[in-house]
Amino acid sequence: MTAIETKDLTYLYSRGTPFEKAAVDGVSVSIEEGDFVGVIGHTGSGKSTFIQHLNGLLRPTSGQVLLYGRDIWEEPKKIREVRFQVGLVFQYPEYQLFEETVERDIAFGPSNMGLSPGEIRDRVREAADFVGLSPDTMQKSPFELSGGQKRRVAIAGVLAMRPRVLILDEPTAGLDPKGRDQIFHEIAQYHGKTGSTILLVSHSMEDVAKYAKHVLVINDARKIAFGTVDEVFSHTGELVEMGLAVPQITKIFAQLRARGFELSPHVYTVEAA
Ligand code: ADP
Repeated sequence: MTAIETKDLTYLYSRGTPFEKAAVDGVSVSIEEGDFVGVIGHTGSGKSTFIQHLNGLLRPTSGQVLLYGRDIWEEPKKIREVRFQVGLVFQYPEYQLFEETVERDIAFGPSNMGLSPGEIRDRVREAADFVGLSPDTMQKSPFELSGGQKRRVAIAGVLAMRPRVLILDEPTAGLDPKGRDQIFHEIAQYHGKTGSTILLVSHSMEDVAKYAKHVLVINDARKIAFGTVDEVFSHTGELVEMGLAVPQITKIFAQLRARGFELSPHVYTVEAA
């Protein structure tokens, strides 16, 4: 079943002014339920603008976003429900923490969904478990925590809404390598356990190669590729065009091989260079 689909999605910033700019230009893509899609592309290519359409934060200039086959703007009054179903973790989400305790911060989203206190408690506990927050953290102020822990609280706040589709925009930006690996690992476990559809925006292609099933490549506001991780990453010429050097490409191939993908002879030629 298709979870999310965009049809000829286009978004112009500063429409009708001399500064008008297409940040998303005619992107059509169809993402199946349960997929794990890595979204990659240079800074400024339009990735954030694209994903902000998927939960209705931005409204298309033209084109459509379909969630389980329905245009999310069909009834604009119901866009709030779309935001519960499509959870979006922004870049540096910890800047949006504001409650007195970790528990209350994670509970903020579900508290707006008309759930019973018991259901809210269950969801908060479950979400905290997914991101490895210990019970003794729950009564602390989020502001006492380390950067990595704050990031977890913010991610848990979105997971607690049990979104059908989870979108993460550079969820490990600014973390050290250990913190980065842990968060990616937690996201992968969450995906394995819940079967949710995940879109992960990341500039780390190595991590995308490690976890994603499909990859969407955006360049200059346009979709330039969408395919399985091994299909997209074995086009070595494109990887070089994206600015990757041979050592990075070698690491990507190593991740793919560790996952059991067979790479083409073409790929090996470059790796040997
Ligand atoms: P990415 O996430 O790939 O870095 P963005 O979606 O943030 O790309 O940006 C795409 C383009 O749109 C960039 O040229 C950026 O400068 C421009 N842009 C982003 N946000 C705004 C905004 N609020 N107003 C005008 N232009 C913007």
